[in-house]
Amino acid sequence: MSEPLGLFGGTFDPVHFGHLRLAEESIAHLGLAGVRWIPAGHPPHRGMPQVTPQQRLEMVRRSTAGNERFSVDPSEVDAAAPSYTVHTLERLRRELGSEQSLVLLVGADAFAGLATWHRWRDILSLAHVAVSHRPGFPVEIGSLPDELASEFSARRLLDADALKARPAGGIVTFAMTQLAISATQIRTLLSNGKSARYLLPDAVLDYIQTHSLYRNA
Ligand code: ATP
Repeated sequence: MSEPLGLFGGTFDPVHFGHLRLAEESIAHLGLAGVRWIPAGHPPHRGMPQVTPQQRLEMVRRSTAGNERFSVDPSEVDAAAPSYTVHTLERLRRELGSEQSLVLLVGADAFAGLATWHRWRDILSLAHVAVSHRPGFPVEIGSLPDELASEFSARRLLDADALKARPAGGIVTFAMTQLAISATQIRTLLSNGKSARYLLPDAVLDYIQTHSLYRNA
């Protein structure tokens, strides 16, 4: 079987070094062929109507350009309707076939909420899930809702090599460099006229400044 492919969805509002290190470190930790970034099209309203899905996509493009292991998938941004992860995975399965190992990359905070996602159990049969540690969000069975905790116990893979053995269905955790950076923090800094430099790539910050994004709280 070919190397597993990482799939990294998120709002990326805006993309920052926490996202970039997660994607970069997942390749080595999990033995991935690469990471396909999939910015969400129509996230819940966050009070930033001036930042369009296309602009979030463009910031992801700028931050990942030059890394040959990264690719950007615009399909959720291009879709007219809100797209759910399960639909994106079904589309990727059609595109890449049933044999390709797919690994959905999520931070610990996102994983803790997985049981609220549309058809979440189907997600677990369409891809593996790799959970990265994130400051403030322990990955512990005791801190997960019961139904997710039992899936986690049943599906847990202790060795990332197992991601290669089958196309989907496992859950693995990995420790990445801990960066307490969030897009919320960056939006708050920018809306208060403060510096967000060194929390995200200069190319993204330049884009934000050129287009006067995140100025109003
Ligand atoms: P917000 O603050 O707006 O909620 P965010 O910084 O959490 O945004 P998202 O686009 O919501 O960013 O996150 C996309 C994915 O990246 C999620 O799975 C999230 O858990 C993960 N992630 C984001 N920031 C970090 C970080 N600093 N360390 C580890 N994982 C992260």
